[in-house]
Amino acid sequence: MAYEVVIGLEVHAQLLTASKMFCGCGTVFGAAPNSQTCPVCLGMPGVLPVINRKAVEFAVRAGLALHCAIAPMNRFARKHYFYPDLPKGYQISQYELPICEHGWLEIGQNGTSKRVRIRRAHLEEDAGKNLHAGIVGASHVDLNRAGTPLLEIVTEPDMSSPDEAVAYLKALRDILVSQKVCDGNMEEGSFRCEPNLSLRPAGAKEFGTKVELKNINSFKFVKAAMEYEIKRQAKVLNEGGKVAQETRLWDTEKSETAVMRSKEEAHDYRYFTDPDLVPLRITTEMVEETRKALPELSAAKHKRFMEEYGLSDYDAGVLTAEKDLAGYFETVTRKTECSPKEIGKEVSNWVTVELLGLLHKGKPKADGSMEPLTIGQSPVSPQELAELLVMKRRGEISGPAAKLVLEEKFSTHYVSASQTTSVEALQTIYGIVQRKNLVQISDEAAIEKIIDEVMAKNPQQLAQYRSGKEAVFGFLVGQVMKSSGGKANPAKVNELLKRKLSA
Ligand code: ADP
Ligand code: MG
Ligand code: ZN
Repeated sequence: MAYEVVIGLEVHAQLLTASKMFCGCGTVFGAAPNSQTCPVCLGMPGVLPVINRKAVEFAVRAGLALHCAIAPMNRFARKHYFYPDLPKGYQISQYELPICEHGWLEIGQNGTSKRVRIRRAHLEEDAGKNLHAGIVGASHVDLNRAGTPLLEIVTEPDMSSPDEAVAYLKALRDILVSQKVCDGNMEEGSFRCEPNLSLRPAGAKEFGTKVELKNINSFKFVKAAMEYEIKRQAKVLNEGGKVAQETRLWDTEKSETAVMRSKEEAHDYRYFTDPDLVPLRITTEMVEETRKALPELSAAKHKRFMEEYGLSDYDAGVLTAEKDLAGYFETVTRKTECSPKEIGKEVSNWVTVELLGLLHKGKPKADGSMEPLTIGQSPVSPQELAELLVMKRRGEISGPAAKLVLEEKFSTHYVSASQTTSVEALQTIYGIVQRKNLVQISDEAAIEKIIDEVMAKNPQQLAQYRSGKEAVFGFLVGQVMKSSGGKANPAKVNELLKRKLSA
């Protein structure tokens, strides 16, 4: 039996605020247990929560980046359940009126793109942590995390494979990180995901019964857990059974999922509006101001690079994968003062192939081994690369010579740093071209002179060419290049040699 996989994802993203959602306690990860607590987040009676403005701003920013509608009127609700890491006996969350709704996010997969709809994203507070490991005869509770602001982001069941779900998670994390609202650290739990997965016979309209997966803290495990679950559910269905609606935990050691709780054991959360918190209004002005200040998303940048610079999907992808690299590329292009379409492809080649190649090779360490460099550490500034490419465009240096200049710039950078300024003067692009005698000969008279000499020295080849053996042309070009010491402008040599031979 062939099945279709249906996946919807719930993500809890910890917002990067300095203080908690409803009190002034700090949010630093790894602090001494219970050192970041106060009567509010400890759930003492008689204290009142106050909404963290920054958390609201971050939620609006994330919501806009995910193309959501932002609710002008928000309410917080109490979600009741009992567990030692939840001091109040309820979690403050949002239920009927979430702050963000009806958004979408685009995922790219092998050249095709697909929209995953975001059903809602709401603000809530995190719970504490129960500690069991290494403690005999007891469990300890650390409430440092209790009250930390979370944005829970829920999709429609729009994904149809584990790869698509992982692509969604990566794209979502990318957006939250680039918007600076979440650090995206899965291991520390600041980006947690819970996949919901079901199977249905291929072509069926109705969804099958879903299972919710928890306890997953890396992209690798998300994929493994979903793949395991697909096999497990297919087996149940193939054997004529029914998939039970339940929550299952991923077991990293055994690489399998196991039941945590069934539908019958599901909580009745007894949601109701939190009477301690006033309704939260978000003005149109605040939404519009945030919208204006949104940093460009990498997906949008990717698209723009293809349109504005005429780059391929692949090249645009490489350049926009890293913000600094994209910035470097744009600065070089601007500094050449050529039109983006005209020079974009060439700059992209030099940045992604030559420059990244040299950065990857890196710089020498004290022990003689090499250490890779980041784009921010490049010994060649965008201004310098632009200068080099302009010289090449004007025919002042050849392509191979330009590569030599780049290499020279890298190999002398770390030596010259400790030497005098007179040496450094030679490390400018122009200085290297001069010192290495790389200026290309484009002067027609000079090239013609060399051609005449070559023709005089090779009467036999000349005769061959004239009798129709065109392959000899390449040989003659080679001779001219050789006698110019590799510095003649090859395009000019071709043009002038053709002219002379047909004369
Ligand atoms: P619950 O009330 O159990 O939390 P929801 O309807 O709120 O269920 O959905 C939670 C998540 O599960 C959403 O991301 C949704 O897209 C996804 N989902 C819902 N139904 C299915 C299904 N049949 N198969 C896979 N995912 C589903
Ligand atoms: Mg759920
Ligand atoms: Zn507190």
